[in-house]
Amino acid sequence: MPDALPDLFRAQGVLFDLDGVLTPTAEVHMRAWKAVFDDVFAAWDIEPPYTDADYFDYVDGKKRYDGVSSLLRHRNVEIPWGSVDDPPEADTVCGIGNRKNAAFAASLRAEGIAPFPGSLALVQALHAAGVPLGVVSSSKNAEEVLAAAGIRSYFRVVVDGVVAERESLASKPAPDMFRAGAVALGVDPALSVAVEDATSGVASAAAAGFGAVVGVDRGAGADALREVGATVVVDDLDAFPTTDAAASASAESDSAASASAASDSAAPTESAASIDSASDSEETA
Ligand SMILES: [Mg+2]
Repeated sequence: MPDALPDLFRAQGVLFDLDGVLTPTAEVHMRAWKAVFDDVFAAWDIEPPYTDADYFDYVDGKKRYDGVSSLLRHRNVEIPWGSVDDPPEADTVCGIGNRKNAAFAASLRAEGIAPFPGSLALVQALHAAGVPLGVVSSSKNAEEVLAAAGIRSYFRVVVDGVVAERESLASKPAPDMFRAGAVALGVDPALSVAVEDATSGVASAAAAGFGAVVGVDRGAGADALREVGATVVVDDLDAFPTTDAAASASAESDSAASASAASDSAAPTESAASIDSASDSEETA
């Protein structure tokens, strides 16, 4: 039996991770790394040439500078670490990392990024229904990505890598970032829902006490996501209804005269104690 989906329309608030949940940002990161390393490898005659396998073996999931250092070490290339203030032209680990970040930003500006269609539809529906929405992302590029994807205006708060650094929030899987997201949104985590695709993020939301933690399996694996605290796992957010089934069901069963009252009840002023009760609405759908 599939997990019952939490009723997001009854949640006090919904907090979304960004990369991999709202936008397929990994592809943009991969393109940026390839552009940078293709140039570096050619300029320094590093063999064999950079491939996508290098990305997954040495770069993916690591902090930016650690990824540069790891890959170059595996090609027997030693360069100074440098400092975070190094310009993108600097031939240091930090310089190359900063070069990648500049390439990422340029790619976003030039090509934009389309949100996952299922995520966009869900966010638009929840926003239209008045459910408070926020973004909790470790990325320091979150604002740029949200703007490029054209979805920034749906979210009342964004707690990202810039905020985390400023407020000394511990990285996911510590509960700090999701807890800060709930505080910023003014909601009780226990009555709210978190949506994440990484095990570290699911663990963060679970530790912060969210009433429901939706794991989006973009490759981490459903079992791995459940193990760290996901209360439900989906392959894509298109699994969620984009209409407020409970509100429309009561509208149908009532007289037509009360239909407008039912749409009022979609406002998130009701008790959200029933965010786990979407199975009701699934039966009526
Ligand atoms: Mg993610």
